[in-house]
Amino acid sequence: MEINFSHLAQSAVEDQHLNKEACLEILNCPDENILILLDQAYKVRRKYFGDSVRVQVLRNAKSGLCAEDCNYCSQSRISKAGIDRYPLLSRDTLAADARKAKQIKASRFCISTSGTRPDETEIEQLCDAISAIKEETQLPLCATLGLITDVQAGKLKAAGLDRVNHNLNTSRRYYPRICTTHSFQERWDTIQSCKNAGLEICSGAIFGQGENDEDIVDVLSALMEIHPQAVPVNFLVPIPGTPFEKLQTELTPLKCLKILCLTRLINPQSEVRAAGGWEFHMRQLKSLAFFVADSIFIDGYLTTEGTSIKEATGLITDLGLSSNIQ
Ligand code: SF4
Repeated sequence: MEINFSHLAQSAVEDQHLNKEACLEILNCPDENILILLDQAYKVRRKYFGDSVRVQVLRNAKSGLCAEDCNYCSQSRISKAGIDRYPLLSRDTLAADARKAKQIKASRFCISTSGTRPDETEIEQLCDAISAIKEETQLPLCATLGLITDVQAGKLKAAGLDRVNHNLNTSRRYYPRICTTHSFQERWDTIQSCKNAGLEICSGAIFGQGENDEDIVDVLSALMEIHPQAVPVNFLVPIPGTPFEKLQTELTPLKCLKILCLTRLINPQSEVRAAGGWEFHMRQLKSLAFFVADSIFIDGYLTTEGTSIKEATGLITDLGLSSNIQ
């Protein structure tokens, strides 16, 4: 079956889910069709998110020291990457970072901690920090904390947390190839616990980890089932010292753009974030990401550098789009 690219936006807006065959066709569409595909994804982006780009700030609140073996991650127990390693930052340090985010009018302040799951002491410390930051800044807050229970999710929600980020990362089938110390199902269960607690969900994936196109479609379809408020689209940056340091990602700028378009068409009403690695892999095409994605991080990721405020502002205004930052 050949899909009609000119009706993709209409189908997405009408909530007609793309079948697997159509998704695979989008991922493999001839490069000369990229502008047709981009136009369809852009129509959906404009309908739900207008011309705005949400710019948010991420803080790595606990770095390294993780017992897990995620092959892509510089913070894992098997990583030899030369990164900073430190325990959970104090409430005052996190609050000072949140104030800076507020000053530049970031749309959200995101707190990330390494590790399998936070212990009870860490949950209490995080709840304390979240309450203080919320009271002082009123910023929307998101946290990435690893696997968490129903009770922990409830405590975080009560403290003022708005959203949890917990990525599926790849398909259920491929998951054992990227991590052996926890499962796709455990990730899925954590997301359900957070949803049950009334937290918004940010959940996405990392592409370029050796998965095939069916895995890409499967993880995006799994995300559709979750109905996340936000879908971060990460592209693997092979970090020296990690098991994936020499992995050939097979990502090209156009392939990244096709993945972003498919993400938008499958999850039309979710924020789509061009997240880790988009700058690295999209190279000269990176500004095109904004025609599909409505959200980015500035000032770096967990252990890698990202886009500066100045560069983000330039990219966004040059395209005639608007953003929250100043
Ligand atoms: S991704 Fe998270 S759980 Fe996996 S190794 Fe890194 S910090 Fe640990």
